[in-house]
Amino acid sequence: MPTQTNALGTANEFIARHIGPRDADTQAMLDLLGYADLEALSTSVIPDSIKGTSVLDMGPGQSEADALAAIKAIAGKNQLFTNYIGQGYYGTHTPSPILRNLLENPAWYTAYTPYQPEISQGRLESLLNFQTLISDLTGLPISNASLLDEGTAAAEAMTFCKRLSKNKAGNAFFASRHCHPQTLDVLRTRAEPLGIEVVVGDERELTDASPYFGALLQYPASNGDLFDNAELVERFHAAGALVAVAADLLALTLLKAPGEFGADVALGSAQRFGVPLGFGGPHAAYFATRDAFKRDMPGRLVGVSIDRHGKPALRLAMQTREQHIRREKATSNICTAQVLLANIASMYAIYHGPQGLTRIAKRVHQLTAILAQGLAKLGVTVEQQSFFDTLTLTTGARTAELHARAREHRINLRVVDDQRLGLSLDETTTQASVEALWAIFADGQALPAFAELAATIPSRLPTALLRESAILAHPVFNRYHSETELMRYMRKLADKDLALDRSMIPLGSCTMKLNAASEMIPVTWAEFGNLHPFAPAEQSEGYQQLTTELEAMLCAATGYDAVSLQPNAGSQGEYAGLLAIRAYHLSRGDDQRDICLIPQSAHGTNPATANMVGMRVVVTACDARGNVDIADLKAKAEEHRERLAAIMITYPSTHGVFEEGIREICEIIHANGGQVYIDGANMNAMVGLCAPGQFGGDVSHLNLHKTFCIPHGGGGPGVGPIGVKAHLAPFLPGHGHLARKEGAVSAAPFGSASILPITWMYIRMMGGAGLRRASQMAILNANYIARRLEEHYPVLYTGTNGLVAHECILDLRPLKDSSGISVDDVAKRLIDFGFHAPTMSFPVAGTLMIEPTESESKEELDRFCDAMIRIRNEIRAVETGALDANDNPLKNAPHTAAELVGEWTHPYSREQAVYPTASLVDGKYWPPVGRVDNVFGDRNLVCACPSIEAYQDA
Ligand SMILES: *Cc1c(COP(=O)(O)O)cnc(C)c1O
Repeated sequence: MPTQTNALGTANEFIARHIGPRDADTQAMLDLLGYADLEALSTSVIPDSIKGTSVLDMGPGQSEADALAAIKAIAGKNQLFTNYIGQGYYGTHTPSPILRNLLENPAWYTAYTPYQPEISQGRLESLLNFQTLISDLTGLPISNASLLDEGTAAAEAMTFCKRLSKNKAGNAFFASRHCHPQTLDVLRTRAEPLGIEVVVGDERELTDASPYFGALLQYPASNGDLFDNAELVERFHAAGALVAVAADLLALTLLKAPGEFGADVALGSAQRFGVPLGFGGPHAAYFATRDAFKRDMPGRLVGVSIDRHGKPALRLAMQTREQHIRREKATSNICTAQVLLANIASMYAIYHGPQGLTRIAKRVHQLTAILAQGLAKLGVTVEQQSFFDTLTLTTGARTAELHARAREHRINLRVVDDQRLGLSLDETTTQASVEALWAIFADGQALPAFAELAATIPSRLPTALLRESAILAHPVFNRYHSETELMRYMRKLADKDLALDRSMIPLGSCTMKLNAASEMIPVTWAEFGNLHPFAPAEQSEGYQQLTTELEAMLCAATGYDAVSLQPNAGSQGEYAGLLAIRAYHLSRGDDQRDICLIPQSAHGTNPATANMVGMRVVVTACDARGNVDIADLKAKAEEHRERLAAIMITYPSTHGVFEEGIREICEIIHANGGQVYIDGANMNAMVGLCAPGQFGGDVSHLNLHKTFCIPHGGGGPGVGPIGVKAHLAPFLPGHGHLARKEGAVSAAPFGSASILPITWMYIRMMGGAGLRRASQMAILNANYIARRLEEHYPVLYTGTNGLVAHECILDLRPLKDSSGISVDDVAKRLIDFGFHAPTMSFPVAGTLMIEPTESESKEELDRFCDAMIRIRNEIRAVETGALDANDNPLKNAPHTAAELVGEWTHPYSREQAVYPTASLVDGKYWPPVGRVDNVFGDRNLVCACPSIEAYQDA
């Protein structure tokens, strides 16, 4: 594309940097496909019925320098006050080596979810460390590898208790009024469609536990109180109820663990372990439970297994993905989680170690105790006798005045109600901060003498709640305390993994495109990182401008009228979207509409989401060409016309095709009273070419971590905003800190706000024409691969002109019959060529789905196609008997360096094993383990770092 020039004459080279192929390459690829230019190709791919509906009108793109200057100006409108608001969000120092070598390092942030364990051992090890950290601090043996935020983790705990409780008659969930308010909001949203009654009350006044199947307590309480919950937990247990405890990780270094006082679940946020506030996210939540409940755990579980050579190797245990997002009996719709943030938290714990963490916790507690004592001296009423880091002050009629005075000193206190203020201290609090707080309340009195108080201050932690068990005894938490050691440990782990900084990741449906450095740079600016999500609105004007502009950009890209940025993953967008549909029907008195049609080919999150809003899933068929069987759809829509709530349909389809019938499908649903949910995960094929809001969609989610350049982070963070037509706008998620107060689906009003600059930068730099060009190039790259590979592997589905959309499915089932080689073997053999496998067996078992994105150059596409063709030739050799049916490079892949230097017994050469193409000699990726044995790991489930004894034995 010709370099764009803006009004000032600065060159915009970004579009050509984001897009992989050069102009000559583009022409060569078009020639192969028989199209004169990109317009001719996209005209041929996009069905006439939806063409020309695009409304992308947002002017030309800006250069990287200009866009960075523009977003810097926006960032400057955010004001950084010192925060004591707490409520689940605390100041923290991200250790500089972790900031630089992990958070800002593409080796960590551009990786995908570790579904291919052989190329993911580094981040799997880091996640196993996270699980060990959580399990240790909570006193519960099984911890998952992160959830989306504390609020949604609490909601998962509620449905978890419901499934596992022995009190089957109980339909109420007790939620302590001492929980964080946003947690209660998310719980209420989640409970309502499931018919669960959330009873918010004071646990100390509980008279009868029998109505409850479960309970949620906060530890320490949101207002700062520290209660001994042991007896209460017993009462709930006696009634057959399970108890979940939302606990603060830093406090747990000093306090008795939830598992030690009987809790069945512990959950919470790992934010204050080194993850910036970020105006609310992204942060990792944790979830831990007893061994007996591990099979019902939401989210992913990393486990230890062995590889083909009997060496220890890590992988996701119990096929966690399939387990939780199955069509029937889905227990959760979590797909993307918060891997990058969990890794930051776990490295923070590794760097500080048990002594360091305890020291931080003690310091925070002592400063809080000193502050409390001094406030008492100044005549301020502190409500708590016992506390960790949070105080509630009875300020009576002076509440507003004191709050305002604090703000004049650039200090944010928490407004509890019109009679009380709250404050929470954290790792960043100092003596000077305590004195500044005293000054606000002193009213001309002399300030207490800090040193004098500090010398004699007693602990305010109740003796009965003091932790007696040791924490983090494992060597990993006791070894990397110098920066040199930590830096090398992070490097060692990163080197084990394949991320986008090494090669293309052709995962269909995942859109592993460039995450440009200019897009990433603003994310770690303090102006975006250090804002508390509940800071007064006038301090977040930068964020308000950013979100308002981004909403408008996304409306333009989708043809919708309104957008909510709150959902923090695609799955959560689906959930928010179906909630909007449900609320719309209810608002019209259509209470009976509870049927959701979902085509056979749907992503697992779709039916899981429908379950979560209490809808009944009716599956509709696909025809032989992979398209929705319209006759079947029409029959089912008419059969259920009285109760039809919605359809959830992915477009272009998960089969990688622009279905001709999409308009007709939408019309059928509308004619029968339903609403159309278009899953926008495949939006990368459409931006600037057609718009779901204009061809019949009522609501869609977008995955900003797919189409709009937020990196996958090794399995999160993500952002899953939804766009809606105007009639659904009143039902978009609300929040206690937004105009609409109810319906929160995330803990923070703007979900994962601090990564929104990435998408803003991308759209700003590409402009309307650049975005359209990117979609066309994504389609070109996919069709180029399909054309180059079709004589070797049949392409399963194509549209009317023999073209695919932005991804293609290769059918490997015939090869299994002719050679015994499976998709798994091909996926693992690709590792020997230095590639991450395409998506395996989704949406059709025995196939590979390839999505190259617009960012991959023709060289890289050719390198990949050459590898696939060589692999096909190896399969041919197996078919003819030239290679042994069992002992061949495919069955044995991937090959490790260790295997190479051992005794070589295979009937093929070492060269063929590890250097199947000569070019690999320069820059070979060596997998650290051989093929991982999943069955062994599931039979011998180990989900924390192996014990110290095991280390000593080794
Ligand atoms: C990725 C994907 C989702 C789920 O998105 P997450 O962000 O992982 O929750 C839903 N539908 C389709 C078709 C997808 O590809």
